[in-house]
Amino acid sequence: MTTTFDLICIGGGSGGVAAANRAASFGAKCAVIEHGKLGGTCVNVGCVPKKIMWFAANIAETIHNAEDYGFKLDYQGLDWQHLVNARENYIRNLNDIYANKLEQNKVTLIRGTARFISDKTLDVNGETYTAKHIIIAAGGEPKMPDLPGAEYGIDSNGFFALTQQPKHVAVVGAGYIAVELAGMLKALGSKVTWFLRKDKALRKFDPMLYDMLMQHMHDMGIDIRTEHVPQSLQKVADNNYSLTCTNGNTIDGFDKILLAIGRAPNTEPLNLSATGLAANERGYIAVDDYQNTAIEGIYALGDISGQKELTPVAIAAGRRLANRIFNNQPDLHLDYDNIASVVFSHPPIGTVGLTEPEAIKKHGAENIKIYTSTFKAMSVGFTKHAPKTAMKLVTLGKEEKVIGCHIIGHGADEMLQGFAVAIKMGATKANFDNTVAIHPTSAEELVTMT
Ligand code: FAD
Ligand code: NDP
Repeated sequence: MTTTFDLICIGGGSGGVAAANRAASFGAKCAVIEHGKLGGTCVNVGCVPKKIMWFAANIAETIHNAEDYGFKLDYQGLDWQHLVNARENYIRNLNDIYANKLEQNKVTLIRGTARFISDKTLDVNGETYTAKHIIIAAGGEPKMPDLPGAEYGIDSNGFFALTQQPKHVAVVGAGYIAVELAGMLKALGSKVTWFLRKDKALRKFDPMLYDMLMQHMHDMGIDIRTEHVPQSLQKVADNNYSLTCTNGNTIDGFDKILLAIGRAPNTEPLNLSATGLAANERGYIAVDDYQNTAIEGIYALGDISGQKELTPVAIAAGRRLANRIFNNQPDLHLDYDNIASVVFSHPPIGTVGLTEPEAIKKHGAENIKIYTSTFKAMSVGFTKHAPKTAMKLVTLGKEEKVIGCHIIGHGADEMLQGFAVAIKMGATKANFDNTVAIHPTSAEELVTMT
């Protein structure tokens, strides 16, 4: 017998749960199919455990700066296992909150792997389910390189499974995850050697950000190896691995090699061919502005649609789609412009809107005016470790509409959200300047730049 719903969401992560809960609030009969832990990547092996490790790394940095403030501390290091236990307890609580919320909203949770057997029918462990509307929010998994010895490396999931602090880690990659994990491992006391294929990380970010980030990561004591393309990994002995690069360099002595070279969508197990849908050449499911796929009544959102791979994006797309289908709001959809994001580096990066090169390419250099500020934040004004803060506003035309805001420095993570609202509303540099500063803060620089 086939069970029928109004909406089935494949994936109990950020996007699927958000869409199902919202649709259920309009009275729709909804199900979520999940084969792993509720909350998906973000809650279990992404944003949440990452942020907890980042908080821990910040505490370590504060402890090291404390002496410069006059504190006499007897620092005895980090109990990694304690931190991991506390983190995982916190996550278990979140898993329960997700389950309770689904139950409260009368969303049916189906445990198992969803596989299409026709365009509107799914098989899960031999049971069949159908719905007029099916949202694919199956997310992605870390990509492993196709290299000899790749099995000796760990990915970001492996990082969160570590029960002991690694002594010397090789980090491979140049995106969000490599930057964040390399930084926090170093701040927590591991020795870190960081391998980048090119000359810098976060190459699509504003140049001010990546230039300063590379400097900060160097100043933290990370051994940075640019222009190092991994060729193979070797096991030398237990807990001793080496990495060979195409330039002939072999570097050894790593107890862990962390590979963070991107993520791949979870399309394979879905058996999309039964629907007539095909993933694109990169494995993602193509959608239009309204999250519609090529098949009516099948939608995709979140990481599997290959748009901005961020939790609030998956949630926002899911909620808007549920409103569109079940609350008679036919034009509602997510606007993917001006989505702010933060890289939890040390110090963090906050960025929204166009980078300087993007703005020049789109509008012409003559129409773009740039404002910058570089300074030492007061909190590190007299400490030995004192990473500089840098800020940039990218403005357009005579009215100087702010079309980009880029920050690296302590507090950037919490600073950006409010500025993102202003930018989304179309604020100009004059609007920024008319806002009286809050003193003494780093954020005040953004309303006092000349
Ligand atoms: P997911 O959350 O991945 O959910 C998909 C779910 O579908 C999973 O639970 C999976 O088990 C399930 N599933 C897959 N296939 C099937 C199937 N066939 N049947 C049943 N179930 C299935 N984003 C931020 O905004 N801020 C951050 O700080 C941040 N940090 C991150 C740190 C790391 C290390 C990583 C890896 C990611 C981070 N992200 C961050 C990205 C964020 O986690 C993702 O963008 C977000 O989780 C995507 O949500 P989703 O619903 O598309 O997919
Ligand atoms: P990214 O796509 O951000 O970066 C991966 C980078 O690794 C590439 O840009 C590339 O950089 C490098 N790379 C690719 N292939 C290889 C290879 N074979 N060998 C060496 N280096 C390689 O992926 P991540 O895994 O870091 O993160 C995935 C996504 O998850 C992010 O894009 C982001 O959307 C999300 N995320 C968000 C976070 C946040 O909001 N704070 C935190 C973590 C993840 P290059 O071309 O320069 O070599």
